[in-house]
Amino acid sequence: MPLLGRFLQPAILFAACYTLSMKKKTPPVSRYAKSEALFAKARDLMPGGVSSPVRSFKSVGRDALFIQSGEGPAIIDVDGNSYIDYVMSYGPLILGHSHPAVQAAVAKQISHGSSFGCCSASEIELAAMIRQAMPAVEMIRFVNSGTEAVMSALRLARGFTGRSLIVKMAGGYHGHVDSLLVQAGSGATTHGHPSSPGIPESVTANTLVIAFNDLPAAQEVFTKFGPQIAAVITEPIMGNIGVVTPQAGYLEALRKLCEAAGALLIFDEVMTGFRVHPSGAQGLLGVTPDLTCLGKIIGGGLPVGAYGGRRDIMNLVSPAGPVYQAGTLSGNPLAMQAGITTLRLLQETDIYQRLEVSGKLLEDGLQQSAQATSCPVSVQRCGSMITPFFSPGGTAVKNYADALTCDQAAFAKFFQVLLDGGVLIPPSQFEAWFISAAHTEKDIKKTITLAEQAMRAAMRT
Ligand SMILES: *Cc1c(COP(=O)(O)O)cnc(C)c1O
Repeated sequence: MPLLGRFLQPAILFAACYTLSMKKKTPPVSRYAKSEALFAKARDLMPGGVSSPVRSFKSVGRDALFIQSGEGPAIIDVDGNSYIDYVMSYGPLILGHSHPAVQAAVAKQISHGSSFGCCSASEIELAAMIRQAMPAVEMIRFVNSGTEAVMSALRLARGFTGRSLIVKMAGGYHGHVDSLLVQAGSGATTHGHPSSPGIPESVTANTLVIAFNDLPAAQEVFTKFGPQIAAVITEPIMGNIGVVTPQAGYLEALRKLCEAAGALLIFDEVMTGFRVHPSGAQGLLGVTPDLTCLGKIIGGGLPVGAYGGRRDIMNLVSPAGPVYQAGTLSGNPLAMQAGITTLRLLQETDIYQRLEVSGKLLEDGLQQSAQATSCPVSVQRCGSMITPFFSPGGTAVKNYADALTCDQAAFAKFFQVLLDGGVLIPPSQFEAWFISAAHTEKDIKKTITLAEQAMRAAMRT
């Protein structure tokens, strides 16, 4: 026995050490462990664990990321992973995360108070800056989100024209406004059906859905319903099915159809306003709407929205006129200061030229990656908004129906490889990526290198 003990003791010791050392090596902790733990808690407290659906990453087979901070082009999660960020809060952060001047303006305002329920001079300042940039916005009303801006603009268009019908584009996103959450009917120009439970047919019965870039469909809808149409609402450059630009003459033709029928043309520039050009898509493309919806960049990362346009129409909004619309936090001074500072920086520098250079670099790089990997991709861009569509054969996407033909499994793989490699893009094929003024050539080149690996992986799905 003592002999055996002399053998056993070291053997046990060795075994214990071995197991311990094995324990050290395995199992590897997930690099997203803290996000995963928070997401588990969040799912108990909030539907899907999120405050807005796209943040769940559900469609790309990943858990939501929980973010600790953002700085310039980078976003850092609670596990300490850093990503080159192309989500950029879905558009507002054209200057990048945590811009010092925006931070200082908000900090200064908050030291004076955060909301008054009375007028503040900053509303006038931001309104004047917007009109200076977009002359068609003769008067403006500030609200708290893009959704609210659109909802109010539709009410105003109906109040002004005394008509009920609204024409929208299939796949066009204007926030979660009831009457615009519609799917196209079976024909090209039929009344829409609710695309979400909770919306009565009677609400979407007044919405007509046509395909973007399909002029005959627009002509048909006006031939059938012209005198009943209050407004056509469209993103002048589609951004919420991914980036799709209007074909030459399309918006001009919509402008003429509206005028001839006495209907209003509403541009939803919540995404494109101050993004594609200092005077928005309307300035870039030279087509003037009657009403414009804004949000995102004009709030510099704080919650904001606005609608504005022709003086004769805007003067119908209460209390100047009878069309009711109000808001406790509307024109919030913190949001106004963030917006004023952002627009001022956009005016004073060559930011739009730099964004174009960065956008072109990324576009060319993604195209080359696609060629190098024989991955069919259509890279579509306007300035600093860009979407690589995994379309069949890499054909151009002109509208929503085309976007729906994209390979979403390939996109999901592409997303995952980028994420694991330190690049965050929107977790959906049907979104625009946003480049900020803070993204450097180095950031973009790193993105392109990783995108090539990601496309190679996507090809294997
Ligand atoms: C983001 C967006 C909206 C909705 O704005 P919220 O502030 O999210 O309500 C509306 N229209 C367009 C074109 C948008 O991109």
